Amino acid sequence: MNGPDARPSTVEETDPQVSKIEPAKALFPLEGLQHLNAQAAARCQSMLGNGTQYGIWETPEDLMEVMAEGRRRVDLRRRLKSYLPKALPVSADLDALLDEGVLYLTRLGLLMRMGPVGLGNTAKGKALDVTTLARLLHQPCARVVAKGIERRMLIGSETRSGFAQALTADDLKELAMRVPERIEVRRLRVLHDRGLWPDAPAEQAFKRKTTAVRGDPLQRPAERRSTPFSPLPDDYMAEMGQRVLWLIRDLGPNLIHLLKALPGLIGDQKFATTSPIRARIVRYFEQHDWRDRHGELITELPFTLRHNTKGTESKDTTRNDECIWPPQTWSSVQSLAATLQRAHLWLALLIMAPRQGEVLALKRDCVAEARDGKVYVAGKTYKPTRQIEGKEKESPPPDVLVFALAQQVQLVLACEKLAKMVDLNDELVEFAIPGTHLWAALGSGAKAEHTKRLRHAAESMVYLAKTLGLNPKPGGKNIHPHRMRKTLARIAGIAIDGAQKVLMRLLGHENVTTTLLYMQSDPAFAKEIDDVAREIRILRAEGLIKDMHAALHDPGSLPFAGHGGGGASVLSEAVRAQEEALHRMGKEWGADTARELAILLTNNGESARLIAPHVVCTKTAGEVGMCSQKRGGIVPGNCQVECHNHIEEASGRRDVERIIPILTEHAVQNIAEGNWLPAQNNKRQLIRELSRYNDIGKSFRASPSVQQVLGWGE
Ligand code: SF4
Repeated sequence: MNGPDARPSTVEETDPQVSKIEPAKALFPLEGLQHLNAQAAARCQSMLGNGTQYGIWETPEDLMEVMAEGRRRVDLRRRLKSYLPKALPVSADLDALLDEGVLYLTRLGLLMRMGPVGLGNTAKGKALDVTTLARLLHQPCARVVAKGIERRMLIGSETRSGFAQALTADDLKELAMRVPERIEVRRLRVLHDRGLWPDAPAEQAFKRKTTAVRGDPLQRPAERRSTPFSPLPDDYMAEMGQRVLWLIRDLGPNLIHLLKALPGLIGDQKFATTSPIRARIVRYFEQHDWRDRHGELITELPFTLRHNTKGTESKDTTRNDECIWPPQTWSSVQSLAATLQRAHLWLALLIMAPRQGEVLALKRDCVAEARDGKVYVAGKTYKPTRQIEGKEKESPPPDVLVFALAQQVQLVLACEKLAKMVDLNDELVEFAIPGTHLWAALGSGAKAEHTKRLRHAAESMVYLAKTLGLNPKPGGKNIHPHRMRKTLARIAGIAIDGAQKVLMRLLGHENVTTTLLYMQSDPAFAKEIDDVAREIRILRAEGLIKDMHAALHDPGSLPFAGHGGGGASVLSEAVRAQEEALHRMGKEWGADTARELAILLTNNGESARLIAPHVVCTKTAGEVGMCSQKRGGIVPGNCQVECHNHIEEASGRRDVERIIPILTEHAVQNIAEGNWLPAQNNKRQLIRELSRYNDIGKSFRASPSVQQVLGWGE
């Protein structure tokens, strides 16, 4: 893809997560981390950018812009205490063990940030990313260490050192009931075996005999089963979609105009309260009409749009209407601005299908024009890649998304400026440097911070549904960015045959298996995709059959209606045979004949797969093709043009006519310069292109330069 120009040079130079590791390693070798004292550990932690305060594991925004706020500053001592039984008496011993636990977790955090600690298939032997590390220190690691503290308090802290070593078989069994803790115990063992960590659970002695079952059966906690996010229902999407588009296209430009005009209306005045702004808003509406995109006056709202939630206590009952039109208060304007942002976000989530963190990390310059003149939305994807800094992801957006994102930039800038004037009374607002985040914490409530970035996309979606009078829990589960991903997957899956690859790119999956699991997670959805895929194949075959039939009766037509490959003549012959069979029965080729034949020949939509651009494979189950001697599946990578199942659709002719002269020119040049290997490749590809459509091949074979290339090396 011809992406935007500005690209970072190297990961090490640009990504603070990576760039800080090597200098820290130079001073603090991995093998020595397990022995660091509190002072040295704090220094190492500070070098890595994880905060300067010992005992507090920080993940500042320069390391990770978007993450769960509760894990930004992990107070290790507090985390340990939260997992200790309440009945444990406070004592000097417990205090000492907690101190030891904090140092233990800090050292472990340093090792996991810098060392080869990953266990899974993709993460094996790699350092952990900062988000995962914060999550582990916050929960499972703290829980394992707290268990060790509890055990050492019971057996006497002098008896054993380390926390994992102190764990009994029962403790380990209890921890193993939760997957995250089980993994962390295993990680300690692995790190211990590598000589990077001093403490690991003791191996259980094998007594070579079966022990008698004693005591009450141990109750396993109920298994936590999460309900997968499901796509949003079609009728819900239709209703929400219409409202969102009205907000973006009709309300948006008017609201932006008001927000940009307000600083001028307010002037230099400073307000103790925001009520005088009301007069200015009313005056604005006396002077300006709000019109929709067709120029029609907006005299009333076309659907429920709650914005006047703070005016409902007024004595003037006309002001109590939550959907009063036009808006009259500063709080209404703030509320509408938040709703417009949510509409932009809704559209971005649906079209780009990003993960929550990816969409929230978008910057104000995310819409960029590439060298090829096309517009892209540039962002990052984190989850599927082991590149700690995330992988650049560019989505080609439709015009409506470009409009929405451009409008969002104006919205966030206008709200930021107003917030500094009205809320913060900032006199230097004109000179203030604007932020870079695309989504702000807009709203009219106490939680709104118009100059700060938005933290929760899921919450925004719920608010949007409530504001628009729609159910925030369609299908019984909260509307959530992940449901938007599933919805896009569903829409694309049922609209496109072979949509797995398209979806894989859209959803940012590294592996097509993940995409297939996505599609298969809902059996009804999987069936829907299968039905649509079959229908598309039947339609494809029907089109080919109609072309072949028309060509048989039109002497001026191209051979096989311009289709090529070894299968074109086979299909044409099948059409001729069918027509003759109908004649023998005294019937005519009718309006439904092509479809009936398509169903028969494709075995009800099993074959006629598009295996490459413009290439259809008509092989049905049990047939043999040239790609493989075995009956069964097709091998598109080894597909042969001459195969009797191979049809080159006529739509590919233009490409072939363009590429043959280019290939010939390259081949002639390489032959003249003695570049045998490239010349051989050019010749091989030229032969393939010439064989795709008989008539095209025939006309080009008459060319002297093509003959020269074909005769070379014979
Ligand atoms: S070679 Fe294989 S993939 Fe190609 S058309 Fe024949 S059967 Fe299909």
